[in-house]
Amino acid sequence: MNQEINPLIRLSKSVIGEGEMREVRRILENGFLGMGPETQKFEQELAGYIGGDREVCCVNTGTAALHLALQACGIGTGDEVLVPSLTFVATFQAISATGAVPVACDVDEAAVFIDVNDARRKLTSRTKAVLPVHYASAVGDLEGVYQLAKEHGLRVIEDAAHAFGGTYRGKKIGGAGDIICFSFDGIKNITSGEGGAVVTGDRTIIEYVQDARLLGVVKDTESRYRRERSWEFDVTHQGFRYHMSDIMAAIGRVQLRRLETEFTPKRRELAAYYRKRLAGMDGVSLFEGDLESIVPHIMPVRIHGGLRDAARRALTDINIQTGIQYKPNHLLAYYGGGKVKLPVAEKLYEELLTLPLHPELDNNGVDKIVMSLGAVVSGGKRGA
Ligand SMILES: *Cc1c(COP(=O)(O)O)cnc(C)c1O
Repeated sequence: MNQEINPLIRLSKSVIGEGEMREVRRILENGFLGMGPETQKFEQELAGYIGGDREVCCVNTGTAALHLALQACGIGTGDEVLVPSLTFVATFQAISATGAVPVACDVDEAAVFIDVNDARRKLTSRTKAVLPVHYASAVGDLEGVYQLAKEHGLRVIEDAAHAFGGTYRGKKIGGAGDIICFSFDGIKNITSGEGGAVVTGDRTIIEYVQDARLLGVVKDTESRYRRERSWEFDVTHQGFRYHMSDIMAAIGRVQLRRLETEFTPKRRELAAYYRKRLAGMDGVSLFEGDLESIVPHIMPVRIHGGLRDAARRALTDINIQTGIQYKPNHLLAYYGGGKVKLPVAEKLYEELLTLPLHPELDNNGVDKIVMSLGAVVSGGKRGA
């Protein structure tokens, strides 16, 4: 569609260069592709980057990180986990994979963070954990979440899939808190192709996750780091085939080195430019989030006046991809099909539009996106 006049502007994109290619080639040439010393190095480098004396265990997806973190807390059938409804379905699937019930909570309008008051209302004797999501990289009332957890003896598992590289109260996200899970899938702030990590200061959780990612084989991780395998072993709990491969770790290590020099400044610059261009545009509102401390993963805005779908169509027509992040999970058949009502999440769902954001976008692209959006919202006002 108008491919020449309107080259495709992608919603998100992996940014891979010669460095990643060279490192993958090195791994392929050494003939050891599984989990080994490269994964161990990636984990050590992640721990060094995050700081705060934390341990890191890498797995093959962010979803697997969440699943194993929950299971490591002893969460399973009969338990409940408080979670914001407005999140990627991965968050919910990770909870239900353990046998536990994800209890959908509403979000606050400012940060799209779990509404702690609603979470408090939904506590039962079966509640074992609360799982906040750092939507669009911003951290909302995290203190309220930890307060609630402390009062009721809950574990906190942070879904920080959007938030890698950001800081909160002067510490890197992951550098403090109970258990923090990251995703390194193809479009996240850094990628390892696919991938994820569990970060915590709790040694028993890390040991559990290390075994559980390798089919529950006790201490197999230590053998793998030496490029060996365990033959005489025991298994004490359910495990999965969730480990990271050295091919993935090699990509991730290069991406981690590029984050602060290339990706972080570029993402912040683009988000700041979007804000400047969209400021004061009637019918469009922005989310807050301090660009000094976050590394913006996505660029969601709210389109008012019932014009979200019209805006989406107008952008699609000129080859600009957009997204809707997210359809609230409590509306999905598997999670109740809308039996509970969550007014803020449902209202946001009608208005949310995610605009393109990735390090290879430029200000001209943003200008074009903002102009087309402006035409729709001001046209809508005339029509009204
Ligand atoms: C990407 C993402 C995940 C899952 O990560 P994968 O690596 O894709 O499995 C979980 N939660 C949120 C909010 C995400 O954006």
